[in-house]
Amino acid sequence: MSADPGPVDQVPAAAGDPTHAGTIAIVGKPNVGKSTLLNRMVGAKVSITSSRPQTTRHRLRGILTQGSTQFVFVDTPGFQERHGGALNRALNRAVQRAFDEVDLVLLVVAAGQFNEDDERVLRELPAGLARVVVVNKSDRLKTAEGMLPFLQAMGTRVPGAEIVPVSANSGRNVPRLLEVIAPMLPAQPFLYDADDITDRDERFLASEAIREKLFRSMGDEVPYGSVVTIESFQMDGALRRIHANVHVEKESHKAMIVGADGERMKAIASAARHDLERLFGGKVHLEVWVKTRRGWSASAADLKRFGFEA
Ligand code: GDP
Ligand code: MG
Repeated sequence: MSADPGPVDQVPAAAGDPTHAGTIAIVGKPNVGKSTLLNRMVGAKVSITSSRPQTTRHRLRGILTQGSTQFVFVDTPGFQERHGGALNRALNRAVQRAFDEVDLVLLVVAAGQFNEDDERVLRELPAGLARVVVVNKSDRLKTAEGMLPFLQAMGTRVPGAEIVPVSANSGRNVPRLLEVIAPMLPAQPFLYDADDITDRDERFLASEAIREKLFRSMGDEVPYGSVVTIESFQMDGALRRIHANVHVEKESHKAMIVGADGERMKAIASAARHDLERLFGGKVHLEVWVKTRRGWSASAADLKRFGFEA
């Protein structure tokens, strides 16, 4: 998918400039702001985010081309602990695979909050892979006195790595992070078109937008047990007509999503439509139905059908 001119300036490459391009995995424990950071760097909401851990289920690339440098960021689901079974295994494989094809890793931690979960992610990183530590949510530590000892401690934990504090929410210091990354990328031709912002198609982005609203508006149990499929996606002139299904594990979940008089479902669909219209830069007609499909998250066949990697 391509971008409208976004918040990050597009500087045209000078003729004859050697181009640099590389793939950068964004890793970290759940909820540190990996997807928010990716969206901030790319300048569009390609990856969904929520205050709940383990919102991201699929590997997704976000692409930023600035002058003669192309950054290809890979958002990862993070290691899953909440769900046992087949879904869990599929998600963890997706994380490991992301490492096979990257030039650099951004290890994201939340300011002031390094613990054994971060430690575990750090241990999982393949030796010899270049890394930058991103200290996100720096807006939460109000004073430099709070931040400096944390940055120093991170420097000791990850020797030799550049440590960059940012706020993905506000965008503070994100340009500096890009400056640190750029010279670490290999000299090679661009991997994607200069105006691409993601490797995923509009169908995928539509299903994710709906899933984000489920995560943001439903109680704890429902979003983790639901999956969204796009049944049809058609252009009608400049209008995108999208029909989606939400599959849930239990009849009671269906009732909760639909809500009294269908009000909750309407709010979910309307919020998703709003995001998609911004992302696609055009009008969207979105219809969402809820279906019960018992046991989908434990069924290999269903997981395949729903787009999880084998
Ligand atoms: P992920 O699981 O690592 O992908 O995390 P998300 O990107 O989904 O973000 C998790 C939560 O952290 C969301 O509620 C974000 O709004 C919040 N968040 C992300 N970046 C920042 C930040 O810079 N500052 C603050 N205060 N919150 C943030
Ligand atoms: Mg995420």
